[in-house]
Amino acid sequence: MKVTIDGHTIDVEPGTTILQAARKIGGDIVPPAMCYHSLIENTGGNCRVCMVKVAQGSERDPRPMPKLVPSCKTEVQDGMVVENISNPNVLEARKNVVELLLINHPLDCPVCDQAGECELQNLSFKHGVEMTFFEEDKRVFEMTSLGDKIKLHMNRCIVCFRCVKLVDQISPERQHGLLYRGDRAEISSYIQKAVDSEWSGNIIDVCPVGALTDKTFRFKSRVWFLKPMEAHRDCDTCSGNALVWMFGNEIYRVTMRNAPYGEHEELICNTCRFEKKNVSDWEIIGPREYPKFSVINQNNYVTPPKKVVINADKRLL
Ligand code: SF4
Repeated sequence: MKVTIDGHTIDVEPGTTILQAARKIGGDIVPPAMCYHSLIENTGGNCRVCMVKVAQGSERDPRPMPKLVPSCKTEVQDGMVVENISNPNVLEARKNVVELLLINHPLDCPVCDQAGECELQNLSFKHGVEMTFFEEDKRVFEMTSLGDKIKLHMNRCIVCFRCVKLVDQISPERQHGLLYRGDRAEISSYIQKAVDSEWSGNIIDVCPVGALTDKTFRFKSRVWFLKPMEAHRDCDTCSGNALVWMFGNEIYRVTMRNAPYGEHEELICNTCRFEKKNVSDWEIIGPREYPKFSVINQNNYVTPPKKVVINADKRLL
């Protein structure tokens, strides 16, 4: 099937989504995604930041689609024409979605473990979301623990469903899900039941914001002070291929190996993640290439241009 995205045409297999087709082309035209993750079955369609305009439905039926569509859930048709960054309405809609995601998200980046690798932080920076129309109080939850190794900071959750879908995938029984709806929506482990799968730690890595954090790493270091190193150990549960984050000769945390677009190569087990923090536990292969696209990565900090005039209807985020 032939699909054209922002003027770039590519042939793809039937069943390919617009987002996957855009990733095959690469570059700036790839829509961002907070909820879609290729390691997790049936993800996507929740965060709405990947919405695009379908200017031509297909060769056979060239009518445009009436509304913006989520690119992670919409399959391409032969002859489809898609607009992403070439359409100002799409960029405006994305900016509004980012503002919506931020209405309840606290501005605690200076103390959040996710800072430096947070998709929401990068998105709000990229779209220049400095203001909000939202004047109500942000919702507030008590911090809870999911087992003895994972902390849930529900205030930061953007309800992307990645962790819920991943736990469904790795657990024989349902242990973790979403309670209530709308602004009351809350991640819970029925209720405070520990997520005890040997793979449960992976929900920390797939969480695009700092809602799920590693208790063995919390507040130990900012990520940009650590060096991500590819490492391997012989493990009976997982492949043992992981990323160890080092400061000098100390391992501060262990995560999945990163993949493009904020995703990961493969799941790792909790033993590798939480129990193996000595250099002698690992064969350290070498530095891992880790793209420095984060707004606050070391030496990468720039102040966004002041282009918005504060008016009476708006206030600082
Ligand atoms: S806790 Fe994180 S991964 Fe889970 S729904 Fe909230 S933002 Fe998504």
